[in-house]
Amino acid sequence: MRIVVVGSINMDVIASVDKLPLPGETVAASSVQYSPGGKGANQAVAAARAGADVWMIGATGSDPFAQATRNSLASAGVDIGHVADKPGATGMAIIEVGADGENHIVLAAGANGLLGPADVVRAASVLASCDMVLLQNEVPWSVNQEAMRIAKASGTRVCYNPAPVRKLDIKALEGVDVLVMNETEAAAFVATVPQGLDGDWSALGVLSDAGIGMTVVTLGSRGLVCYHRNGLIRLPAFPVRAIDTTAAGDTFIGAFAAAFDEQNVLYALRFGAAAAAIAVTKPGAQASVPSRSEIDRLLK
Ligand code: ATP
Repeated sequence: MRIVVVGSINMDVIASVDKLPLPGETVAASSVQYSPGGKGANQAVAAARAGADVWMIGATGSDPFAQATRNSLASAGVDIGHVADKPGATGMAIIEVGADGENHIVLAAGANGLLGPADVVRAASVLASCDMVLLQNEVPWSVNQEAMRIAKASGTRVCYNPAPVRKLDIKALEGVDVLVMNETEAAAFVATVPQGLDGDWSALGVLSDAGIGMTVVTLGSRGLVCYHRNGLIRLPAFPVRAIDTTAAGDTFIGAFAAAFDEQNVLYALRFGAAAAAIAVTKPGAQASVPSRSEIDRLLK
């Protein structure tokens, strides 16, 4: 598969604390880690490690994090020729994690917020030459609209992950072929989201009626469901000992896209779920994304 990701590139700064600070309080961190992240970049790394040819359309700033985040993409084999230079800060997630696993996250869009439709137009030939484009909600909506327009005009499939959640009219999803979201995001589009794998998922039919070819709802450790014109697939998660679920969703999407085959959707879903199951057994975002051989081993 040839995959292009249009989306965010962040540096995650993770401070571990005993107890999260109250407003106005200062607490000491026991450790600080810098970990390349951002939904767009995570999905690009996941698709590349899973064996796809991957291009990233995004932006970094003029701070030292620009090089570090670019290096992380490039070392996974992602083409960064269409990552634009913007003035100011690279996107950043400032994450405080308490001893009980609770967290506070502050997301600063930085360069991601400066990405514009013109940056997408400059990379139109890449978009037109790929099998699938992956989109999320960490760059301006006008960027996604431009990417969808070029993709539709050139027959490139559109996979949209509406995360972080943003209220959108279903009509805005007209150009989407594959919609992948978790339960919280699904609640923004359908009136009732069933609690588990065995629920009545017919409410997803409204998305199908709106022209979306396939909708995947991921359910964390319970697995996922996939609603498409031939019916509903319910896929339990691979049983693993999870230690850090950061980027589980992004890993699923990247690997699923790398294995995508309209004729064998179940295989792509299992491949994505296996990749995500491995990712939750390791700490970090891009650092936890598995290679193709690790995924194949779990699938054997
Ligand atoms: P995140 O925001 O942390 O990236 P998400 O909420 O977008 O995640 P989830 O629904 O939590 O996505 O997880 C995506 C997929 O990852 C699930 O459908 C499942 O296949 C796999 N997964 C997640 N958690 C586990 C787990 N504990 N054990 C096995 N597989 C898991």
